[in-house]
Amino acid sequence: MPDQITDLTDDYSRWYNEVIEKAQLADHSPVRGCMVIRPYGYALWENMQAHLDARIKATGHLNAYFPLFIPESLLQSEAEHVAGFNPEVAWVTHGGQEELHERLAVRPTSEAIILSMYAKWVQSWRDLPILINQWANVVRWEKRTYYFLRTTEFLWQEGHTVHRTQDEAMEEVLRMLDVYRDFAETELAMPVITGRKSEAEKFAGAASTFTVEAMMGDGKALQAGTSHFFGQQFARAFNIEFLDVDGERRHAWTTSWGASTRLVGGLLMTHGDADGLKLPPHVAPYQVVIVPIFRNEEDREGVHTAIESILASLRGRVRCYVDWSDKTPGWKFNEWEVKGAPLRLEIGPRDVAQGQVVAVRRDTRAKEAISMSTIPDRLPDLLDEIQHALYNAALAFREAHTHHVRSIDEIADLIETERGFYWAPWCGSATCEEQVRARTGATLRCIPLEGGDEGGSCIACQGPAPQTAIFARSY
Ligand SMILES: [Zn+2]
Repeated sequence: MPDQITDLTDDYSRWYNEVIEKAQLADHSPVRGCMVIRPYGYALWENMQAHLDARIKATGHLNAYFPLFIPESLLQSEAEHVAGFNPEVAWVTHGGQEELHERLAVRPTSEAIILSMYAKWVQSWRDLPILINQWANVVRWEKRTYYFLRTTEFLWQEGHTVHRTQDEAMEEVLRMLDVYRDFAETELAMPVITGRKSEAEKFAGAASTFTVEAMMGDGKALQAGTSHFFGQQFARAFNIEFLDVDGERRHAWTTSWGASTRLVGGLLMTHGDADGLKLPPHVAPYQVVIVPIFRNEEDREGVHTAIESILASLRGRVRCYVDWSDKTPGWKFNEWEVKGAPLRLEIGPRDVAQGQVVAVRRDTRAKEAISMSTIPDRLPDLLDEIQHALYNAALAFREAHTHHVRSIDEIADLIETERGFYWAPWCGSATCEEQVRARTGATLRCIPLEGGDEGGSCIACQGPAPQTAIFARSY
């Protein structure tokens, strides 16, 4: 048997690292802070990417690609933005032996390079809106790194749009927030809360930032995607002006929105258990893993023929993998459990004789004998059931770890033993927000768009609290 994985209740972050390595999602690289995404992890990311890309295109956006290098002067065009990113920018100072006249930033995010191009492309209201997305890598010089959640280089998509009016831009921001919500819930089986970030937590230079927040298996929050409204601030900094319908020259309204490979880590921490990953069928590299069981060549022959006919009946509908490797069946069961394949099919000579296979669910371990003739109907149904069961389990977990509190003391008393989301009335002041963080280590995750009518007085200052905020420790 492969080595045991650390108990996740003993040491969650060790469990996380071990599962990533044993499931072969990623490995450390010779470059400090950078990881290698291995084929199994990359296949998972590609499936996630395909679902998200389809939604980005269905909402009217086109993909494009902008340079990896950003001239320093361009990055400095927007003061708050550059101040927010400066500490983590990697700089290119030489080309070959020659020192550059101007340093080039290795893109930490692309507002500067993309908006400077938009300034050239936008002249009249007829050129608007611009709806472009980019899939790319970005670099942020992180001091402490963590597989997928925080690495110096990571992969993501960043949408950057320009609009004629404020309303149109805000509509775009909320539309993309809902795209992230729908993607997370439908494809990743990851329930999320949509909300607005506080002033302290918003993106550097944004007028407002919206977020989808998910709860991980240790009760901590993970920001799973963000959508930013920039007002006209970036359009002013990058000179995106246009001749409006009424003949007046005006600054445009811009937005940006992004989601990254940290979602791979989020997926593991939403569904994983003591035995490893549990992948939602919609994004699993292999939805069904078939383990052939045989003792001799004659048995192998029969099993092989049966498997070929199963594969033919599922082709183009279900992603299957047959594990013909020389490991023992028990070893294979264990390995595919660590890798989180949603469904395992066991098929041996006795099954062949009875015209059936044994299906084992990764999420519940439930076993079911399925006759060969009903496989093409039953397997897709079973995968649907697993997809929904994972979502429901994650939602039930979040609800069980959600607390409605009235004071900082309540959070402070509970949070060491009861990680989770703390919904609390909040007056809106940054001082109160900081008090909560200092006392409890919980940051303000968002002001939820729905269900935030707690009423009452601020948990910190006891003043009037017109809104509810969610506090949690986070990744
Ligand atoms: Zn307050």
